Amino acid sequence: MHFVSTRGNVKKAGFIETFLMGLGDDGGLMVPDAIPSVSADTLKGWEKLSFQELMLEIFGLFTNGEIPREDLKTIINDSYSTFRHPEVTPVKKLDDSLYVLELFHGPTFAFKDIALQLMGNLYAYVSKTRGEIIHILGATSGDTGASAIAGVRGKEGIRICILHPHGKVSKVQELQMTTVDDQNVLNLSVEGNFDDCQRIIKEMFSDLELKGKYHLRAINSINFVRILAQTVYYFYAYFRTVGAGSGKTVSFSVPTGNFGDIFAGYLAKRMGLPVGRLLIATNENNILARFVNEGIYEPGAFRTTYSPSMDIQIASNFERYLYYMYKESPETVRFLMTAFQKEGAIRVSGKDLEQAQADFAAYGVGGSECLDTIRGAWEKYAYLLDPHTACGVAAYEAVGKGTDEICVALATAHPAKFDESVRLCGIEQSFPPEIAGLFEKPQHQKVVKHSYGRVLEEIEAFLK
Ligand SMILES: *Cc1c(COP(=O)(O)O)cnc(C)c1O
Repeated sequence: MHFVSTRGNVKKAGFIETFLMGLGDDGGLMVPDAIPSVSADTLKGWEKLSFQELMLEIFGLFTNGEIPREDLKTIINDSYSTFRHPEVTPVKKLDDSLYVLELFHGPTFAFKDIALQLMGNLYAYVSKTRGEIIHILGATSGDTGASAIAGVRGKEGIRICILHPHGKVSKVQELQMTTVDDQNVLNLSVEGNFDDCQRIIKEMFSDLELKGKYHLRAINSINFVRILAQTVYYFYAYFRTVGAGSGKTVSFSVPTGNFGDIFAGYLAKRMGLPVGRLLIATNENNILARFVNEGIYEPGAFRTTYSPSMDIQIASNFERYLYYMYKESPETVRFLMTAFQKEGAIRVSGKDLEQAQADFAAYGVGGSECLDTIRGAWEKYAYLLDPHTACGVAAYEAVGKGTDEICVALATAHPAKFDESVRLCGIEQSFPPEIAGLFEKPQHQKVVKHSYGRVLEEIEAFLK
């Protein structure tokens, strides 16, 4: 197995090389040159595995033996030892056709921990075994930053700089990032929105000289390893609901921003997991819902919503899907991405749009609808949804019902992280002690203008 770029201009790369590269050196995204397929027999054999064991098997299909199995096993076991639930990603039944997959039992109470605890340990491993210098650079709409910092704080040989949009993340997200006082962490609070932060980061990663000079590494979902780690819980949820050998498919409803998590589900399906429909749930930043329903991929005006981690217009991972939609043709991807840059839109129609609609259903959830869903689930199931998870459940209610398929809604964050929105529903919750304790601690962050030059200046000073 090797990895190639969606734009076709990167030499075939190994697993660790792909992990370190992050964004493809040609500006594309790295994908496997052939997706491994998992047979029905293999699925049956995996059914009883724990989350960690399952991850070891799935990673084994992609790592080319570059990491000895025993080492990989240790890395994986260490990564999930910090989780508060023995199952790592437990599945809860809400009613006969709706389940939630709880992905928020990691150190920062959001699903990003699943991939980023692992990536933190993998970076430390590569730093130690290969003497690589690891300087992590990332943009966050709130959860990735907190989670990545938790994954590498205090680790030797690693430094991390995270950009977040000033005043546009929840209070708990801000505190989780900025109350960390380890010397290897820099928080830049950028006066702008998430797309501004992501653009600056992408520009830095596209400057190969800069990337090489400062050894810049990515933790955003442009990194294929992050996607791969997230495929594991789709398998896990399948086994915990209908089970291998049932012959049944399961659909998933996925709160979506950067298209990373839903792409992991798409990858699991391409590997052979019996996945039915993949529901893209967005908030009012609904570019992806418009794409699936109308065939136009075009950013609209940025909206601030109750689910800030999904306040994203330009979804980085969408390019990975385009690559597969157009039968793994890098020429087509290059053509479309150039058109997108020039005209600000990608249009698809006819057979191509039919393909997208067969792969996904999509729904953009409005603000009051999101809050109503939180209230509704609280009354009906005595289950408290966070506003992101609520978008997933609302999308299921709107476009996912009416088949005999079970739907698993991904619970991407713990409600305590987004108390601002939960309170608006008239619901009072108590905070887990790990979150309550944050409010007492001093914060460390620097507020900067959203300018490439200003951000670069800070990063250069930090990495000197
Ligand atoms: C990041 C995030 C999402 C969106 O995931 P993508 O992979 O960017 O689509 C949804 N919910 C929460 C809570 C998140 O932190």
